[in-house]
Amino acid sequence: MLLLLPLLHFASVKLTLSLARSPENEVVVWLPNAVLLAALLHWRGRRGLAMAALTFASDVYANLPVFPATHAVLLSLCNLGEVTLAWLLMRRLGASPELERIQDFGRFLLAGPLIGALTASMMAGLALCTLDGVHPPYATLVLLWWFGDGLGLLIYTPLLLSFLRPASPRTSDWPQGAAMMAVTLAAAAFIFTQGDGGDLRPHVAMTPQLLLIPLLYIAARCSLRCTALAIALISLGSAWSVTTGHHPFGDASAHETILRTQEYILTLSTIGMGLAIMLGEQRALAHELEDKVRARTEELEASNRLLAQLSTTDSLTGVANRRRFDEALAREWARAQRTGEPLSLGLLDVDYFKAYNDHYGHQAGDECLRQVATLMGDHVRRAGDLVARYGGEEFAFISPAAGAEDAAALARTICATLQAQARPHMRSPLGVLTASMGVATLVPGKDDSPDTLFRLADQALYEAKHKGRNRVEQADAPVG
Ligand code: GH3
Ligand code: MG
Ligand code: MG
Repeated sequence: MLLLLPLLHFASVKLTLSLARSPENEVVVWLPNAVLLAALLHWRGRRGLAMAALTFASDVYANLPVFPATHAVLLSLCNLGEVTLAWLLMRRLGASPELERIQDFGRFLLAGPLIGALTASMMAGLALCTLDGVHPPYATLVLLWWFGDGLGLLIYTPLLLSFLRPASPRTSDWPQGAAMMAVTLAAAAFIFTQGDGGDLRPHVAMTPQLLLIPLLYIAARCSLRCTALAIALISLGSAWSVTTGHHPFGDASAHETILRTQEYILTLSTIGMGLAIMLGEQRALAHELEDKVRARTEELEASNRLLAQLSTTDSLTGVANRRRFDEALAREWARAQRTGEPLSLGLLDVDYFKAYNDHYGHQAGDECLRQVATLMGDHVRRAGDLVARYGGEEFAFISPAAGAEDAAALARTICATLQAQARPHMRSPLGVLTASMGVATLVPGKDDSPDTLFRLADQALYEAKHKGRNRVEQADAPVG
């Protein structure tokens, strides 16, 4: 990566000299300084010395064919000083290197194109005035260098930075941006090739100002990368145009034409880039807000789900509570009514539980209730089945589509397993913890209600208790 830097710098020198230098040797925009500035900003100054040394060497190498060696070095030092000053000033002003917020762009304008380029141009002006030969006055030299360097930094730094960053997944320039870009470039090509002495100009008086319209559209709708690219291409196009004898800015002296072009590039890039950055910032804020709202909504939904679950769950045993039991019974009853399938209900009551509590304590009693809930959950597990804690030491299961025999067998397995688990119960005649169950199965008729089923199961449970406990009784009812 480090080695690519001088290559990019040198390529930028070549690009500048071939596109933006007039026959009078005046440069409209000087791009190369932006290479080091963008690199310093992007990598936060890491390996800054090495990067500075490499671009400095490339700069001297580019200057050598044009200036004597001392001057080549002096002018390259001015360039290096310009970038270093701009970078240090941006850090001092607290500008974030991404240039994605309008105040950062403002600080960049102040530090780079304004102060950095002006300081360097004053130094370079001094160096150039010591050269032999005829020179423009000092002020002219400074102005030309300042504008050229300033504009180079202005159009090229954001462009390089936007290409160094990964593209934002949120703004796609395709196909809208590409189409607008093509239209803009076609219009630019037309405008910038006018007025070369042919007869087109008097008839088609389009000026480069027109390009502001598609550019502003691009700035409003596309990414900063796309906008920066459009600005750079239009700017270089205009520079190429005026340095190759075209007159898109009307007839004026060569020097004045260059100043007009620089003014045009300054207006175009400040307005275009400023708008793109401002709108990008707004979009980012809106997205941030949307993300926050989405995250909050998800959190809210999750806590609502949790709340709903908690409000229908028995906190001691973790199985459904009475409320969910009632809802499920009503729902399954209605379904069974529609389908004509049987619905089974089993009620379980722990035997001699008061005595267990009295003997072993309330906490041990709670442990028993958890054991019974787990045991029921282990056995009642067909799709649509439900286990609930119905009251203190009473549990229930609902088993849709289970026939009477299946339901009774299920209940018997539960009771037998609880007895086999042999939790000691000194105060029970059976010596271990047991439970009694009543089971009822109904195919819901027109005149029945869930209460009918419940009453039948409860009667069967009462019978199981009456007959000595630790047993399952089945309701005498028409079964499916
Ligand atoms: P039976 O064999 O006839 O069912 O007698 P029982 O003692 O089990 O029935 P009874 O209704 O007399 O007693 C139920 C006991 O259940 C009374 C109460 O202390 C206890 N109980 C109710 N809820 C809880 C609870 O959440 N935790 C504990 N540890 N005990 C509970
Ligand atoms: Mg009871
Ligand atoms: Mg009991």
